[in-house]
Amino acid sequence: MAETIIKVDLKESPYTNEKIHNRWHPDIPMAVKVKPGDDFKIECYDWTGGQISNNDDAADVRDVDLSQVHFLSGPVGVEGAEPGDLLVVDILDIGTFDESLWGFNGFFSKKNGGGFLTDHFPEAQKSIWDINGMFTKSRHVPGVEYAGLIHPGLIGCLPSKSLLEEWNTREQALYDTDPDKTPPLATLPYADTAHMGTLSGDAKAKAAAEGARTVPPREHGGNCDIKDLSRGSKIYFPVYVKEAGLSVGDLHFSQGDGEITFCGAIEMAGWIHLRVNLIKGGMEKYAIKNPIFKPSPITPKYDDYLIFEGISVDEGGKQHYLDVHIAYRQACLNAINYLEKFGYSRAQAYAILGTAPVQGHISGVVDIPNACATLWLPTDIFEFNVQPGSDGPTIELDGSVQVPLAPDLD
Ligand code: ZN
Repeated sequence: MAETIIKVDLKESPYTNEKIHNRWHPDIPMAVKVKPGDDFKIECYDWTGGQISNNDDAADVRDVDLSQVHFLSGPVGVEGAEPGDLLVVDILDIGTFDESLWGFNGFFSKKNGGGFLTDHFPEAQKSIWDINGMFTKSRHVPGVEYAGLIHPGLIGCLPSKSLLEEWNTREQALYDTDPDKTPPLATLPYADTAHMGTLSGDAKAKAAAEGARTVPPREHGGNCDIKDLSRGSKIYFPVYVKEAGLSVGDLHFSQGDGEITFCGAIEMAGWIHLRVNLIKGGMEKYAIKNPIFKPSPITPKYDDYLIFEGISVDEGGKQHYLDVHIAYRQACLNAINYLEKFGYSRAQAYAILGTAPVQGHISGVVDIPNACATLWLPTDIFEFNVQPGSDGPTIELDGSVQVPLAPDLD
């Protein structure tokens, strides 16, 4: 049986656990050591470290301290790993804790985090999703149930000193172009809430002041939020420091492409079973800059979709040049408008797009001036017929069921 090499206690703050960290820095000491060929289990907090509760009140999403995230388990040192190698990681399995068979999805307040559609959903809202084996449904979103495509939102190796400097320099430069923007253009180092594993004293203070935040995906992978990087995937990570320093967290029970709600997918605490191997000198051998991976041989079988198109003309009718971000936003809004006709609130529709196994595709990027993005909505997740027909939508959803909202405080 695989040994659990990192344990968490959901009743305790992650700040009390020395095998957890929430910044990227090469000085964070390895929390545990393994050898190539080993397989092992790692337990993870949910990405907020327990700030969100299983209740019908979105105040915790509104008031979340985002400077604390993400709480990652690791770093795992792999014997013999050196900069330039590839760390091969098999995700053998992922699971829930018996005492925590639920996950959350939320929309952050525009004043605290925001999200892809934050101008349309400026206030905090939260839905709770119960996990029943491989399926999930929500008391806040009627009429849908689906199988989870369970995956870590965040996994990657520690950066080298020079790579960390590169990250901080380029993100600061972007931030400085509009430092007053809400939500901000980038999340910069912030020492106050940094948790640097076993580091303490001056060494901790120095690393905390420089440590990169965990929000964006970067060259090492990190917070990629790729739903298909799931149980059964094999990932090839670039190694930047001696012993690699693999960390993982932000487990998702299910997520739509884009993780458009930002808070986020169906976020959960749980465990992950991994196996590691090395390809010596693999970065150079295969010209690897960012991770590559093979998908799982097992995925939920949803093969019928309604596909919503979006083009790079914004909500105000303004023409943009081949902008896939705007095109995908239009595809999402078109899907929300459609689902609203079936009795869903706009928040319920948004929660479905953020959590269900929705596919997002960049469909065209050459037909000037419009990019075309598509959102693929699986039809079999619904407990009723969502196809268009000559009779129009006939379903009546229970309007008393809603996604709890927490109005902003002044
Ligand atoms: Zn997440």
